Amino acid sequence: MEKEELWQAVLAQIQLNISSANFATWFKNTSILFCKEGQVLVSVPNSFAKEWLENKYGKTIFKILYNLDKEIKEVKYAIGKSEQKAQKASYCPPSEAGQLEFEEFQVNKETNLNPKYTFEKFIVGPFNELAHAASWAVSKKPGLVYNPLFIYGGVGLGKTHLLQSIGNAVLKDFPQKKVKYISAEKFIAGVVSSIKNQSMESFKIKYREIDLLILDDVQFLAGKEKTQEEFFHTFNALYEKNKQIVLSSDRPPKAIPALAERLRSRFEGGMTGDIGYPDYETRVAILKAKSQEKEISFSEDVLDYIANNIQKNIRELEGALNRLVAYQKINNQKPDIDLAKALLKNLFLSPNKTINPKKIIQAVVEFYDLKEKDIISSSRKKEIVKPRQVAMYLLREEMKSSYPFIGRRLGGKDHTTAIHACEKITREMEKNETLGDEISLIKQRIYSA
Ligand code: ADP
Ligand code: MG
Repeated sequence: MEKEELWQAVLAQIQLNISSANFATWFKNTSILFCKEGQVLVSVPNSFAKEWLENKYGKTIFKILYNLDKEIKEVKYAIGKSEQKAQKASYCPPSEAGQLEFEEFQVNKETNLNPKYTFEKFIVGPFNELAHAASWAVSKKPGLVYNPLFIYGGVGLGKTHLLQSIGNAVLKDFPQKKVKYISAEKFIAGVVSSIKNQSMESFKIKYREIDLLILDDVQFLAGKEKTQEEFFHTFNALYEKNKQIVLSSDRPPKAIPALAERLRSRFEGGMTGDIGYPDYETRVAILKAKSQEKEISFSEDVLDYIANNIQKNIRELEGALNRLVAYQKINNQKPDIDLAKALLKNLFLSPNKTINPKKIIQAVVEFYDLKEKDIISSSRKKEIVKPRQVAMYLLREEMKSSYPFIGRRLGGKDHTTAIHACEKITREMEKNETLGDEISLIKQRIYSA
């Protein structure tokens, strides 16, 4: 059989077994490049499709091919359209060839810093100028200028980026300093488990050796009395030694409910800087910078359309852009303004009103070609664990569901399982661009359902 015929036969069978949306997503622009001596090399348009064909459909594809031609022993996948390129690719191990495309960002386990968050990548405009200037000053003279530095502002406006930039800059200029970034939620969990394991002493010691302590999202300390007390002592110990403390919150200290007065006055005792909503020019500048990073340029009217429709959240601005980037990767076609409008329309219609947990779970299982009963089961299989974690992550991100609710909704799991899942996916997305693309596509389905 000719290789074209062979692949057509494979596609025909696959098409019978998966949804047309999945078929279009994963099998478009695929072909067999060569087939000899039992080896088949399949060409795929991008690393995204490669991973999926290898991991998710690999076995099926092999079975079908083997049934058509019993000589076939191995199927490999390569990115690229020309035979030359693909043959070259076939000489290096497939997984490596695919990964070279991604920029890898590794969160440091000791400091919890992600090197991708730097001042260089932080766009400054009138809305965040002060917060930026104060952060910059602190990074140049930790412990000596503003202590503590307290940054506040709404979600998705760059607090974490700024805080992490301080950490990265300090480590660069003062490599001997001990830096630690931690979210207040994690800090709370640390206190709780230290109490449970009776290891409070070592917990205390660990925090008191730090030169720069960054605590993100301190609004979560609300009502956590034991943690507040612990943090109060840590704060004082560091402060007295001129160690730098940086805090963030979604609101100013006085608006955090159930926060002990002594802690509130500590928070207010240094410099507070807020981040407001970005103006139009900065929104466009951010979109341009982010598309440049991804080496894709969109036309002015497309950027203008996004910037006009998302005004209060930089993460959403990036999300919209990523949707267009994912589209362009899969279809090898840059969306023009009309297509961009169609692709983004659902994102701009106040999404919270139109979605519910059922829709989210439905979109996830369809995307991964599973059934709802699979992900609410207690299976530990990799093909099921990952989609389950993605569903948990999306319930949290898109609906702000509570962890106990998420656990229950996915088959009576514990809330710690939900927390772990959300953290895992967030971490994975930092270093694995494919996962981010998958999640973009799933969101696209959630909002267009
Ligand atoms: P927050 O912690 O306030 O919720 P983040 O710091 O997580 O927000 O920011 C959300 C996303 O937007 C991140 O990907 C971040 O890199 C990006 N971002 C926010 N502000 C800026 C900025 N001024 N310049 C470039 N990117 C930004
Ligand atoms: Mg944050």
